[in-house]
This record gives sequence, structure tokens and C-alpha cells, in this order.
Amino acid sequence: MIASPLLEHLAGYAAGRWLASRSSPGLAVHNPATGESLAMVSASSDADVRLAIDQAAAVVTTPAPLRQRRAWLEAIAQRLLGRQEELARLIALENGKPLRESRAEVEYAAGFFNFFAATIEFLEPRELPAPIRGCAWTVRQRPAGVVGLITPWNFPLAMLAKKLAAALGAGCAVVAKPAEQTPLTAIAFWHLLGALDLPPGLANLVLGDPAPIGRVLCTHPAVRVVSFTGSTEVGKLLAAQGAPHLKRLTLELGGNAPFLVFADAPLEPAADALLANKFRAGGQTCVCANRVLVQREVCAAFADRVAERVRRLRVGDGLSADTDVGPLIDRAAFDKVASHVADALARGARRLVGFDPPRPAHEWGAFYPPTVLVDVTRDMRLCREETFGPVVAIAPFDSETEALALANGTGAGLAAYLFTADGERAERAIQQLEFGHVGWNTATGPTPEAPFGGFKQSGYGREGGLEGLLEFCEPQTVPHALPPGLKP
Ligand code: ADP
Repeated sequence: MIASPLLEHLAGYAAGRWLASRSSPGLAVHNPATGESLAMVSASSDADVRLAIDQAAAVVTTPAPLRQRRAWLEAIAQRLLGRQEELARLIALENGKPLRESRAEVEYAAGFFNFFAATIEFLEPRELPAPIRGCAWTVRQRPAGVVGLITPWNFPLAMLAKKLAAALGAGCAVVAKPAEQTPLTAIAFWHLLGALDLPPGLANLVLGDPAPIGRVLCTHPAVRVVSFTGSTEVGKLLAAQGAPHLKRLTLELGGNAPFLVFADAPLEPAADALLANKFRAGGQTCVCANRVLVQREVCAAFADRVAERVRRLRVGDGLSADTDVGPLIDRAAFDKVASHVADALARGARRLVGFDPPRPAHEWGAFYPPTVLVDVTRDMRLCREETFGPVVAIAPFDSETEALALANGTGAGLAAYLFTADGERAERAIQQLEFGHVGWNTATGPTPEAPFGGFKQSGYGREGGLEGLLEFCEPQTVPHALPPGLKP
């Protein structure tokens, strides 16, 4: 069992105090690398969730001034960074990712609080430059109200941070629900929040069975916005549940990122970029390259460079200092990756690196060997669906037109990457790629300072950037009749 100074309470948090819902069954948390039982967490009851929403609704009626919100955001960033090592350890323990990545996740999370602290001045009321119809016009950015945040397990801290920072910056009150696989990082985060003088009810945390909690968040009249990151399937379910109530949603859903390499691109940096992108969190991120499309004349040379690098990756427990790739989150993830590889091999793909690992008998996480496949074609499951694992799938293309058609030939539209030394080609491609994030000669993912989100089935709304802050605001326009003497 886990011991941590940040885990004094193993429960949700509502109305300024820790919850302990003895009536609900607990939530067992496992280390996906070892199967060790880390904790049994109290699940929040239906009454807890409603209490959290009611308290949030009460506190949001008097939003704090901008300078107070800025001070909170800065203090939260400081607290996260002050506990970076312990938070990183918890992330590595319950998620399995390497400590190096877990530390980077804490910095990334703190970055959202610092960014929104610095951006909050954009919420000052804006006066239109000239009177219109005898009125002075002011646009205010009101807090949207109570917001529900539902987050996945692949970035247990950062996914909460990006939503929470924007919501608190906008003046909203929050009911957050982290993934059931990784509640400990969230609890540790709320431990740090609890030490701040936030008004009770401003930031609430609920844990447990996602379906009933999601339903309450999507249907409760006091909840104005639901911000969700996760699967397309659950995103659609939430949109359907919220539709009769005209609930505003921000949906950051699955991707199927193409990684395009044209023959004129320097291959070494492109291979390095692919490795850094593809194996982050063991391939379990929505911006990981899922389809590597390479111009035919350099395809073999590029695949060799990638294979050489992948062979050097060390798989292991995230807590070991030399681990590059941790375990997959659970056996279901293992089964999906294994079935994608088996399907590709059966349809003619060749495996340059990797092997068939034995199926784990247990349900907690599982290690999957980093794999490189070539001769991949678009009919294979790993091209049509997001694999979410450490598998590089390389497919050749002949022309720019074919490459862009292949890249766009998916329902998803989150991230794409493009490697070419030809600026005109890059410009043409960026204009045609139907993706919310397009890296040119880089496979870097989102940053707090810029908006991030999907086109098409990857969802709607944005996180990060000024756009991310506005997701939680309600613009209010006030025309104010000028005294007769001042009329233009
Ligand atoms: P993943 O495949 O990444 O686990 P999910 O969409 O299942 O993606 O999970 C993302 C988040 O959505 C998690 O917090 C999970 O608990 C939550 N979730 C899963 N099912 C539902 C549901 N029916 N209603 C609301 N939230 C859900």
C-alpha cells in the first residue's frame, strides 16, 4: 500500500472538506507495472456529487476579483512545483509512465496555472471604441458558472490542471472527476489545494463509477459547462446526455495522428522526433503518431533509422531510473495493441522490431514490447483506429496528393506532423490537413500558451491559450445609453 504525505485522505473533496462515503463500494488502485495494490479509495455517493454541485453553485454567485484569481493560480503553480518529486512519484506509481516523464508532467501542469494567471487580464471588461446608437458598449466576460471536468488516466495531473486552471481563472466553480485508474494524483492535488484559502465549494473532487457521475454533471441544471477528455465513444454519450439540457461541452477526444515524412526531409531529426512523440506514455497519448506515412524512396531508410532507435528502448517499471517505456495501463489496453499487431501481420505487414508477448493472466497493467511494423496499409486496424500503444506503423506513399488523402482519411482530426524541407509544400499541406494541431518539422504536442483541440470526430472546444480560458466564460454585452448631452 502506498504511503505519501499528500495522501492523508483517500476520498473526494466537496464544500471545503474531505468526503468519506462509506455507503459506496471503494475504488481499488493498482500499480500497472507490478500489480501492487496501492490504495482503496472511497467512491463518492450520488449525494456527495450533488453536494459538490450545490456548494459550487452557491460559491460561484460571487466570483472573486481577477487579481484574487491570479494570486490563486500563481500559488497553485508554486505548490505543484514545490511538490514535484512526490507528485511525479505518484504519477509513475499509478499510471506507470517513467519518472522523467512524470516530472515533466508536473511542470507542464504548473505551466497552465502560470499561463492563465498571466492571461487573466484579457477578462477585463472591453469597451467598444466608439458609441453605437447613442450607447457606450461594454463586453464583460462572466464566469460560465459551475463546470464539470472529466479527465483520463494518461496524464493524471496535467489533464486536470489544464481544465482547472482555465475554469478557476474564468471565475467558475468546479466539480472534477478523474479517471478511476488514477485517482491518487488527483487526491494529492486537492491536498495541495486544500492548504490554500479557496472558498469552500470552489474546487470539488468526486471519485468513482463514471457513468452516474457523468449523467448528473450533464443533466444537473446548475452545471453550465462539461469539459471532457477521453474516448470518442464516451464524448458522444456525454454530448447526447447534455443535449436536451443544451449543456455546453468541450470535448477533447481520440486522435489518429498521421506523421508524414517527405523524401526531402532530413531523416535523422525526423526519426528522433518520432521516437520522442511515439513513445511518450508508452504510446498512450492522443497526440502520439498513429500512422507513419513515408515517401516511398526513403521509406526503407527511414524505417531502418527508426528500428535502430526502437531496439535501444528499455521497457520497465516507471520508477526505475533507466526506463524509457512503462507498462500499458491495463490488460484491455494490452489486448487492443496485440490485436492491432496481429491484424496487421495477418494482412501483410512485416515486423522489424518486436515479438508476440504472452497475454497477461492478470488485469492490471502489462508490458508490451516496442514494435516497428512496415508495409502497413490503410485497411489494417492500426490505421483505422488509434492503437494507443508502443507500435510504430509505417506505410509508404508516392505523391503529395496521396499523402494528404491518406492523412485526412480518418474520422479523427486532432494532431498531425509533417516533415519536409520545402516551405511551399508545407504551406499547402497545413492548409489541407484537417487537424487542430499540425507540427511542421517537429512532433511536439500542446503547450499551455496555445489553443489545442480537434477537428471532426476529435471533438470541439479548445484547451490552453486564450481560447481555453474563454471556454469557461459567458460574454455579456452591456449597451449603456449615454446622457443626452454626450450623444454623438
Ligand atoms: P479511456 O479509453 O481513455 O479510458 P474513457 O473515455 O473511458 O477513455 O475515460 C475517460 C474519462 O471518462 C475517465 O474519467 C472515465 O472515468 C470517464 N468515463 C468513462 N465512462 C463514462 C461515462 N459513461 N460517463 C462519464 N464519464 C465516463
